[in-house]
Amino acid sequence: MDWSGQSESSNVEDRRGAGPAVAAGGGMLTIVAVALAYFLGIDPNQAKQVADKIGGRMGEKRKTDTPPTEDEHYHFARKVLGSTEEVWDAYFRDNYRKRYEHPGMVLFSESVDSGGCGTAPSAVGPFYCPVSRKVFLDPTFFDELEKKLGGDKGDASRAYVVAHEVGHHVQNLLGYNTRVEEFRKREGENGGIRLELQADYLAGVWANQASKKNPNLFNRNDMASIIKTAQAIGDDRIQKKMRGWTSPESFTHGSAAQREKFFMKGFETGNASKEALDVLFNPRVAPLDL
Ligand SMILES: [Zn+2]
Repeated sequence: MDWSGQSESSNVEDRRGAGPAVAAGGGMLTIVAVALAYFLGIDPNQAKQVADKIGGRMGEKRKTDTPPTEDEHYHFARKVLGSTEEVWDAYFRDNYRKRYEHPGMVLFSESVDSGGCGTAPSAVGPFYCPVSRKVFLDPTFFDELEKKLGGDKGDASRAYVVAHEVGHHVQNLLGYNTRVEEFRKREGENGGIRLELQADYLAGVWANQASKKNPNLFNRNDMASIIKTAQAIGDDRIQKKMRGWTSPESFTHGSAAQREKFFMKGFETGNASKEALDVLFNPRVAPLDL
């Protein structure tokens, strides 16, 4: 990707090196799981187990931690968030006739107090808290993504991860988060997967709109980098890695094929209108099985 000329967001807060977060009330690592949108769909209560299983050091204390101020991760986070702000500012103004309220983004290490969704360890991966309206990211996740999960840690792939979490913020502003339970009751289908796939779709819409604004932003290898990651974090691939077999009824984010399909659909259409987003919650028009 070519980020030259991309202005940086001022909404990134760097809490790396601050030490483990302690939850209000004194307990460590209490989680309000229901409110959170985790990137990997790992149950926070199993986070330690998962980290052990995939051999990661996510969530472990790194003794040599010194606060890495204004490093590459910091500037990259500010640029990607800046790009999403420009895209969604324009999209909300032109299509929804309302102001896009910017999300915050917090870089952290070890664990973090999400400000309304409990305290989370790094091992759960990047996530969005709809209460504090912030995206949380431990940048060391990207090493694990590549080494342990078989994703790509190129900048396009990292931008996709951030754009997916920002997608959850867009859903929050447009009211889709609260429609999951209603959907489950009506259709008897897990609406959570649709919310996740819609976030992938919105990440695709961001990529479409950002490349219209700046035709040099993506190069020809960038889509391959994103698709490699979208597939690697599919529920089927992660389950296979973790325990050697898959159970589609316990999928939370969608399969490798679904994640690729929904990102690409957003990228090809660039359409985040209410009509386009509603369709994703209509199983007769948008069945999830391929
Ligand atoms: Zn998600």
